[in-house]
Amino acid sequence: MNKYAIAIHGGAGTIVRASMTPEKETLYKKGLELAILSGEHILKNGGSSMDAVEAAIRTLEDNPLFNAGKGAVFTNNGKNEMDAAIMDGENLKAGAVAGVQNIKNPIHLARTVMDKSEHVFLAGFGAMEFAEKNKIEFAPDAYFFTRERYDQLLSAKQTDKVQLDHTEEKKFGTVGAVALDIQGNLAAGTSTGGMTNKKFGRIGDSPLIGAGTYANNKTCAVSCTGYGEYFIRSVAAHDVSCLMEYKRLSLKQACRLVVQDKLIKIGGEGGLIAVDAQGNIELSFNSDGMYRAMKKSDEGVYIGIYRE
Ligand code: ASP
Repeated sequence: MNKYAIAIHGGAGTIVRASMTPEKETLYKKGLELAILSGEHILKNGGSSMDAVEAAIRTLEDNPLFNAGKGAVFTNNGKNEMDAAIMDGENLKAGAVAGVQNIKNPIHLARTVMDKSEHVFLAGFGAMEFAEKNKIEFAPDAYFFTRERYDQLLSAKQTDKVQLDHTEEKKFGTVGAVALDIQGNLAAGTSTGGMTNKKFGRIGDSPLIGAGTYANNKTCAVSCTGYGEYFIRSVAAHDVSCLMEYKRLSLKQACRLVVQDKLIKIGGEGGLIAVDAQGNIELSFNSDGMYRAMKKSDEGVYIGIYRE
């Protein structure tokens, strides 16, 4: 059997052991394990990397611990506006949505934009109207409400600052997945609520093809997490692919250059997950931690949270 590989992230940031309880740590690890196994199940049975990426991200979107779908952070005006994108490395097709509200699984909407519209990127009301027409599942405001996220908004408003997911922990809880299937096709996807107290209408890197999400069978599949504005300015995900294609760097070298050098130089905190066409995986971050997991066809599941 040809090799398959999958990696996921649940956000990067100041995630340190001292601010984590054992109970919370177990919940995060369980959430990551469930998501990686839901994607792996598809790959193991010969399914596509696109289906595996979507399945893993849906599992994370349904988990309120992560800042995507249920558990998305609040904007300045108390709403949940979500962004998501998915890209197919085989044909460079992509679908993305930004600023959508009340969509249960934004990654599925992004996939539907790719599959059923002639466009790549739909935003706001247009994206939601498209969702309605395509019978995408909506959920009421109450579904997205989590006490913790709302308290974060109230505290962010007091200081009038835009905050990254968790005030004290400074964590970015965006979710993402990258995969290689046994047919040799790569795919990447990312889904997020963005940043607490963000201006309504603000769009991060996650749904921008090339910034937070990118896949190309020639090189790699990448999903980013971190302070989105810096990842947009760095065109980070595409940069990893370009360094491999044009400069012939390995996946490891390309990720290291982007995350540990280029992003740091402009103050961009965060990380990314990437897989190449040979099934090598990189889980690279310049923050204190990143919720992450990976599984290769011939290895056991790896789950990590902190810097090792
Ligand atoms: N990159 C996301 C954004 O800026 C945040 C995150 O990764 O948690 O919207």
